[in-house]
Amino acid sequence: APQSETLLSRRKKSFAKPQKNYYAHPPQIERGWKEHLFDVKGRAYLDMVNNVSILGHGHPTLAAAVGHQWSLLNTNSRFHYAAVAEFSDRLAALAPEGLDTVFLVNSGSEAVDLALRLAWAHTGKRNVLSLLEAYHGWTVASDAVSTSIADNPRALETRPDWVHAVLSPNTYRGKFRGAGATDGYVAAVADVIAKIDDSGQGLAGFIAESVYGNAGGIPLPEGYLEQVYAMVRARGGVCIADEVQVGYGRLGHHFWGFEQQGVVPDIITTAKGMGNGQPLGAVITKREIADSLEREGYFFSSAGGSPVSCVVGMTVLDIMERENLQANAREVGDYLKARLEALGQRSPLVGAVHGMGLYLGLEFVRNRETLEPATEETAAICDRLLDLGVIMQPTGDHLNVLKIKPPLCLASESADFFAEALEKVLSEGW
Ligand code: PMP
Repeated sequence: APQSETLLSRRKKSFAKPQKNYYAHPPQIERGWKEHLFDVKGRAYLDMVNNVSILGHGHPTLAAAVGHQWSLLNTNSRFHYAAVAEFSDRLAALAPEGLDTVFLVNSGSEAVDLALRLAWAHTGKRNVLSLLEAYHGWTVASDAVSTSIADNPRALETRPDWVHAVLSPNTYRGKFRGAGATDGYVAAVADVIAKIDDSGQGLAGFIAESVYGNAGGIPLPEGYLEQVYAMVRARGGVCIADEVQVGYGRLGHHFWGFEQQGVVPDIITTAKGMGNGQPLGAVITKREIADSLEREGYFFSSAGGSPVSCVVGMTVLDIMERENLQANAREVGDYLKARLEALGQRSPLVGAVHGMGLYLGLEFVRNRETLEPATEETAAICDRLLDLGVIMQPTGDHLNVLKIKPPLCLASESADFFAEALEKVLSEGW
């Protein structure tokens, strides 16, 4: 049997089954370089789905910095070393004015859990609004605000009663579409808030991705967050921007996703790209919100903000700046989007290309009027792309959107390679 098949059966032995395997016959990856991954036989694959490695794979400067810090010191964050203060200062400097206080954790789920705890501690209330179609993590509280049925088919039956799901502001296939969509979606949030008002229990906060990644990379309707934030704040609630996937330069045009909506949240959660694969996450917030947690005791995470994690975080920022990766995401991302849109003119299966920068979602539909999702086709297209040397996976509640989130160092030749591979696959007749 090929080595990767042997590995698949080995995985079945002691590795827990719910840990998803995205392909029937995945290549066994051994090594990475920039936007490419190489299997054990040395075959190259273009990694178009990696939303964690923003610098690209195998970056020698990062590897050297990690190695050096490991050889000097890596330890429990209870000790006193400079990196934790330096990295916190740099994160706070990246955030809008007023968001000057940082917690360092190890993942996006942890960041979201902590953000929710802060909202509860700060307001003394419990109810939280979350969008339908959302994914915010796997830990108990982050899972509670995750409503996506693609990730968890029973998501909507198993919400605790403090979670209040609001209509997904999906302007492509949601209840309200196009230019006038904002009012309908804002009114839907107002209805849910009115019920919470009636209950007399109050509102702790609102959490959302500011460009809707889990819905396929769809920008929220214009002015949506401004109006929702105002309603939430009028009740003393706090507004959480989950930037785990959308933030950190991936949009190209903005460093943070919420900038696209012209708002400033009260709490930012970030992870994924900031560690380029090393477990690293953060909550960035206002001093008074951060300090409210003291009423419940102190906050401690053994490895959150460890010396190695902080050095990784700072080196990632250095490399992003030096290599102009956000600008590359903008230029190559916009170029790729235009190519994919042109491809859409020729292929009726392409419903739309959502997003911007290197945060794109190509949505396949069986019919452009009814928008019937082409779920099985999307899975088959991903399999064919793998044959052609491209790693791609579906996203969205109907799993009919290509999740185009490559490393931000993507070369324009690689964007061409992807577009040409997709064109070839689509020409095979669907
Ligand atoms: N929030 C968002 C928007 C995410 O996309 C993810 C991960 N897919 C998470 C939170 C959870 O992050 P992690 O997997 O690092 O726990």
